[in-house]
Amino acid sequence: MKAPWHALAGTLPESRLLASVAEFTHHRDIDALDHSMVLSLAELVAVSSVTLCKRGESLQHPVDSIVVCSRKPGGGFVVEAIDPGREGDPIDTIVCAMETLEAISDVTEDGTSRLVIPIQREHAAIGALMLEAEDSLDEVRSMVEGFARIYGNYIALLNESERDKLTGLYNRRSFEQRLQRLLKLQRQRSRGATAAGKEQRQSPDDVSQLFLAILDIDHFKRINDTYGHVYGDEVILMLAQQMRASFRQGDVLFRFGGEEFVMLIAARDEEAVHVVLDRFRRFVAGHAYPQVGHVTVSIGYARITENDYPEIVLDRADKALYFAKQNGRDSVHGYESLTARGELASPVALGSIDLF
Ligand code: GH3
Ligand code: MG
Ligand code: MG
Repeated sequence: MKAPWHALAGTLPESRLLASVAEFTHHRDIDALDHSMVLSLAELVAVSSVTLCKRGESLQHPVDSIVVCSRKPGGGFVVEAIDPGREGDPIDTIVCAMETLEAISDVTEDGTSRLVIPIQREHAAIGALMLEAEDSLDEVRSMVEGFARIYGNYIALLNESERDKLTGLYNRRSFEQRLQRLLKLQRQRSRGATAAGKEQRQSPDDVSQLFLAILDIDHFKRINDTYGHVYGDEVILMLAQQMRASFRQGDVLFRFGGEEFVMLIAARDEEAVHVVLDRFRRFVAGHAYPQVGHVTVSIGYARITENDYPEIVLDRADKALYFAKQNGRDSVHGYESLTARGELASPVALGSIDLF
């Protein structure tokens, strides 16, 4: 894409630069922040596009999200989120900058100048900014590096506010937003698969459904009463670490409160999610925690789709958890199977999770 002009803006007035930074950092929502940042940059420098890539957590998906702000032929800009699953140039160039932590400045085959600046946090790239323009971007390089640093600092602050202090898992406050992001990602992936005609040949690893699970430690009051809160906290911390190690990187884990955890897990079907959750339940039951010894957990889960209200699905998973608590604990139950088997007597008393 070419810019309709040929010269880059000269020295920018400081007030405009500051106004721009103030504008994008006033957002508390990460998606809104990303949109605002690419737009602010595009408005400051004469570019044809500004792209913000965020790093994915898995090797399979090195890019988690892409937002592009492009100059429209008739003037003005359009900001859009792009499928992060796509490969090839320029994504490969961006991934390269993220991996090497080196800025890349080059000219593409069609003569477009390109500048890629990694966004760093603690000696690792959390993403990268890419600018494309008709003319050289050398003049604006240090300014874009400044934007990348401010963005990196700010995103770290926002991320911290989404985390539980004890375990480092996401906190309940961030649940709704994380869920919406995951549903969006799934929608993009399934659209991508359909467009590529891949839906008929999914590998066993391909995931198509999302499940919400609630895990609650059994008889935790006893643990606190017998060994004290410090050992209770230690169990919560170790369990959170074990959850991180056991579930896929794409699954999203929350500490919802006390000794209750919520998980958003992508799986082929109910059977697959049951296997994963029950494997974790067995792992916990077989593990000896320092001082406390053996601990068990109960888990309830339910399927979640874009059309469901999260509160309703939380309530369903909680009903399945309540069933587990009523039937011997140390077990995993799915809401859909329980209802299909007629095992959820209604009305069921509300379980342990306080709904929104
Ligand atoms: P159940 O098997 O029915 O879940 O029994 P439970 O004893 O685990 O009961 P419940 O889940 O209702 O209560 C959890 C207890 O966890 C209540 C509180 O004393 C304790 N607790 C809540 N938050 C924390 C925390 O952050 N640290 C510690 N150590 N204990 C907590
Ligand atoms: Mg509880
Ligand atoms: Mg409990």
